[in-house]
Amino acid sequence: MRWEASADLVVVGTGVAGLTAALDAAEAGLRVVVVTKDGVAEGSTRWAQGGVAVVLGDIAGDTVEAHVADTLAAGGGLNDAAAVAEIVTAGPAAVQRLRARGALFDARGPKLDRTREGGHSAFRVVHAGGDATGAEIERALVEAAKALTILTGHVAVDVVKDVSGHVAGLHVLDDHGRPGLLQAPAVLLASGGYGQLYASTTNPATSTGDGVALALRAGAAAADLEFVQFHPTVLYTGPAVGRRPLVTEAVRGEGAVLRDRAGTRFMVGQHPLADLAPRDVVAAAITRRMAETGADCMFLDATELAGFADRFPTVYASCRAAGIDPTRDPIPVTPAAHYACGGVVAGVDGRTAVPGLYAAGEVARTGLHGANRLASNSLLEGLVVGERAVRSVVEDRGLPRSAELVVPAPAVGVAQRGIVQRAMSAFAAIGRDATGLATASDVIESATLLATPLDRTGVEDAALTLIAQAVLAAAGTRRETRGCHVRTDFPERDDVWQKESLVITLDEAGRPAVGTDALAGAA
Ligand SMILES: Cc1cc2nc3c(=O)[nH]c(=O)nc-3n(C[C@H](O)[C@H](O)[C@H](O)COP(=O)(O)OP(=O)(O)OC[C@H]3O[C@@H](n4cnc5c(N)ncnc54)[C@H](O)[C@@H]3O)c2cc1C
Repeated sequence: MRWEASADLVVVGTGVAGLTAALDAAEAGLRVVVVTKDGVAEGSTRWAQGGVAVVLGDIAGDTVEAHVADTLAAGGGLNDAAAVAEIVTAGPAAVQRLRARGALFDARGPKLDRTREGGHSAFRVVHAGGDATGAEIERALVEAAKALTILTGHVAVDVVKDVSGHVAGLHVLDDHGRPGLLQAPAVLLASGGYGQLYASTTNPATSTGDGVALALRAGAAAADLEFVQFHPTVLYTGPAVGRRPLVTEAVRGEGAVLRDRAGTRFMVGQHPLADLAPRDVVAAAITRRMAETGADCMFLDATELAGFADRFPTVYASCRAAGIDPTRDPIPVTPAAHYACGGVVAGVDGRTAVPGLYAAGEVARTGLHGANRLASNSLLEGLVVGERAVRSVVEDRGLPRSAELVVPAPAVGVAQRGIVQRAMSAFAAIGRDATGLATASDVIESATLLATPLDRTGVEDAALTLIAQAVLAAAGTRRETRGCHVRTDFPERDDVWQKESLVITLDEAGRPAVGTDALAGAA
């Protein structure tokens, strides 16, 4: 290592989870250093549109219990009910703290505006700037964190432990690519999801799953990785690779409907909530209809909505940039990879099975989402678990440690991301079967090289390769259809033998192994 620095806590990531935690840590008197591999506002948070799902108690008929019930219904029986209740109940205070930190939500008078999204039984989603909620949250948190030490362009490579197994710091590449060690007894992963595993995604370039890979290599477990949520409606402008503009579900919440090219409303009769069914149902229905009709996309008809440009300025601008006027023309849409329901196994308190290693936000699997995330529950999770993780860090200070450090094992193999993305998009998106999953594994295996260049691309490609292997292993094991995991060869839910979460750990050769019994591993 060429350089060294130290802190009480190192936070990886400057999205909603990382910045919430960093601000709390500084308030608790911890010396906190935040690293982010890009600029401060380059994660998924700034792109969030719909809002934050929360029951503030001022909407007649809506209750915390109803929000919990909607979350469990969307999660397909795999949620951790206690985690759901804890996070949803903590929501109002977390949103209040965010507002105290400067986030401005849309309001008429003293009452915040609400919208509704798929799977929600009430209008309970608070939003900002119409459909620019994430941008406002990121702005407010970055502003509040101005006095903190935030190292931009710094890439987390591996968690460093001592011989007793406790976290001792983080191996990092600085903004000139020089390797160094940030010594700290606590590392919080808030590094977001892995939408970049697929060629077409709503996620930014930073969402390469580095945190899940780091945690697995450090000895932590990951779970529910096979549940990759595809957003039903991203703007379709022809075949493309990389981040695509989202058309928020709130557009359907406020009355828009899906139609096929012939103008038929195909969601009616598919689910009691029709166009507002949970995301997995709508994304699978769109995919089926596209296959049945041989079409490249379906259409979201928002032409009856009043004030579209004011209510959804971000979507309106994306449509206009693509030459579409959503007030007159139905919007062409397809599903795209959107959200990692699984991740590093952690409690609502952020603790993982590795002492001193914490996880919060999209990188974590707390049990809130189960097999399918309810819309707008993820910003909420980042706020709540980001805060709780810091309480755990404070409580855990003084755990026994050793001065002797262990050099982390290097990543096992790397395939180029284009190959990984093509294989995952072709064989492990919506609608998977045993043959396709095996083909994807073979393609990735045969393209995997042993050397990992020690730069940002190498770190990201190593993470994508490892997560692809893990997702394929879990998706192959789960021989049923549940939530966002759709198996065409096992189209029904099988509650007899597959209702448990599948847990991934690394075997001695550094390859993902699937089990079912390590969820208790989160402290
Ligand atoms: C288009 C879009 C719309 C969405 N809309 C909503 C919505 O309306 N409501 C809702 O609740 N959720 C929504 N989501 C999901 C939600 O935005 C994310 O789940 C959430 O913002 C994730 O926050 P986070 O703090 O966990 O991670 P992110 O905001 O993704 O931040 C990750 C951070 O980690 C850093 N990082 C990653 N790897 C490394 C590394 N190796 N070294 C250093 N730094 C690293 C990144 O640079 C970044 O700073 C949406 C997501 C997208 C993409």
